[in-house]
Amino acid sequence: MNFHILTLFPEMVLAGLHTSIIGRAVADGLLTITAVNIRDYALNKHKSVDDAPYGGGAGMLMQAEPVFLACRDVQKGIRANKRKSTRVIYLSPQGKTFHQAMAEELALESDLIFLCGHYEGIDERVLEEVVTDYVSIGDYVLTGGELPAMVMIDSISRLIPGVLHNKASAEFETFQDNLLEYPHYTRPEVWRDKKVPEILLSGHHANIEKWRLAQSIARTKENRPDLYEKYLQGN
Ligand code: SAM
Repeated sequence: MNFHILTLFPEMVLAGLHTSIIGRAVADGLLTITAVNIRDYALNKHKSVDDAPYGGGAGMLMQAEPVFLACRDVQKGIRANKRKSTRVIYLSPQGKTFHQAMAEELALESDLIFLCGHYEGIDERVLEEVVTDYVSIGDYVLTGGELPAMVMIDSISRLIPGVLHNKASAEFETFQDNLLEYPHYTRPEVWRDKKVPEILLSGHHANIEKWRLAQSIARTKENRPDLYEKYLQGN
């Protein structure tokens, strides 16, 4: 999987994504993550890429042309490597809310381009021209699309074979079958008078699985009634 991030702050996304499990996957050659600085495509000598909005209003907007040139350059590079041109995801609080099934679908792509807005956003005309998907990471407004891009790349990457060394890790976890995951415990067996549930020490795998499923169902019903309804419909 090849991730391409169009941003005004490449150092921010690269620092975050070259750490821990995702950083190791990059080092192992399972992923590439490149950040393209939109400012490099500015048309003026001051390298500014923002301007005031027509019609007035607070804040500045990123201009269309630098975003357009940066995006087309990345797409050209992808085609030159004999891969077909790709989806362009604009991170936006106005987009569809990101969820696990969307991560699974995106993990099947060979390349993904993420466009990070800043300030009040980006001139609408270039969005109409290049964007294929509008995605939000939740109903709140951030200062830029960099953190949302990092969130998406992290969750997509861990679905790529080999990124999680333990294959089972991604197999049953929260959101699988619309259930939240069961609780986990590790050593010591007793911590501040709190004991690990007896069943987990029994070595009886079938009973452990049954207990875990019951825990998953109970906590989904309690914490996420919306998800619990979906679980009931699917069963
Ligand atoms: N004026 C825009 C609006 O009301 O829709 C918000 C702009 S926001 C301050 C600046 C940038 O942050 C956006 O262009 C987008 O890239 C990113 N952003 C902010 N919140 C986001 C969210 N919840 N999900 C994804 N991207 C977000």
